[in-house]
Amino acid sequence: MKLKFWGVRGSIPTPGKSTVKYGGNTPSLELRLDNGELIILDAGTGIRNLGDHLIANGESIRTYILITHPHWDHIQGFPFFKPAFVSGNEITVIGTDREEIDLQHIIADQMKKIYFPIQLNELKAKLHFRSVTEELFNIFDARVRTLYVNHPGFTVGYRIDYRGKSLVYISDNEPFDKESATRMTNFEPIVLKKFIEQHGDPNQRIVDFIHGADVLIHDATYTPEEYVDKVGWGHSHYLFTLKLANDAKVKHCVLFHHEPNRTDENIDKILEKCRHEIKQKQFTFQCTAAYEGLEISW
Ligand SMILES: [Zn+2]
Ligand SMILES: [Zn+2]
Repeated sequence: MKLKFWGVRGSIPTPGKSTVKYGGNTPSLELRLDNGELIILDAGTGIRNLGDHLIANGESIRTYILITHPHWDHIQGFPFFKPAFVSGNEITVIGTDREEIDLQHIIADQMKKIYFPIQLNELKAKLHFRSVTEELFNIFDARVRTLYVNHPGFTVGYRIDYRGKSLVYISDNEPFDKESATRMTNFEPIVLKKFIEQHGDPNQRIVDFIHGADVLIHDATYTPEEYVDKVGWGHSHYLFTLKLANDAKVKHCVLFHHEPNRTDENIDKILEKCRHEIKQKQFTFQCTAAYEGLEISW
């Protein structure tokens, strides 16, 4: 598997002098399987550069875009993904329907005339929309598994297993506890009680889901100090991310979805603190802070 990060920033694009090293584009990742088959994770603004790169290479595209959830930072780049404008290309968008809106409209509605000059039905590529729940399915020769994780309106985590190798992508996720959960509309107290009875503890479900993964990409938006004031906002602090990685015995943990106000210097410091924590606790996994252009092969 070969992975390249095209957008790593959470919430909103943050161009500027202080974000040159880690980058300001919102989430989008390029995953290549052995034969070059392309799977894209999320369609934040980073997907624009990926699309331009694909066009420049003259590749004809047959790809799957796995969307974690409909927040702007995960879909906003789609209308700027040039391969979608090229006839002969084939793009399957995978994600979840929501109670009030289905997957196709989640993507299409941000291109309605009031927001954008070109409408979804004017795109020349062949587009498919496949909504999933918690399930297991194939893309090319890879096995893909989905899991609902803790975020306002919920996020889908993706696990991709391919020829004995594995990747887990959980872009937005908050440590689960009752206080934060009851502040989220998708986990009203009664729903929450039922959910836990049926499915078990949400944090443990995530540990089971990511268990043994070669690479875990996980939300590390906040510092533990910041998190105290951000309970219920749907994001993790980096100590929680490290704990997940250790509990699940992953090999490589990638800190992801950097907070928009975070400068390059700030992220360097967070990474340093994480590596210190890993050493002190005698964790054995490798830790990287995601940056635009980062490539990982395994
Ligand atoms: Zn996000
Ligand atoms: Zn979100």
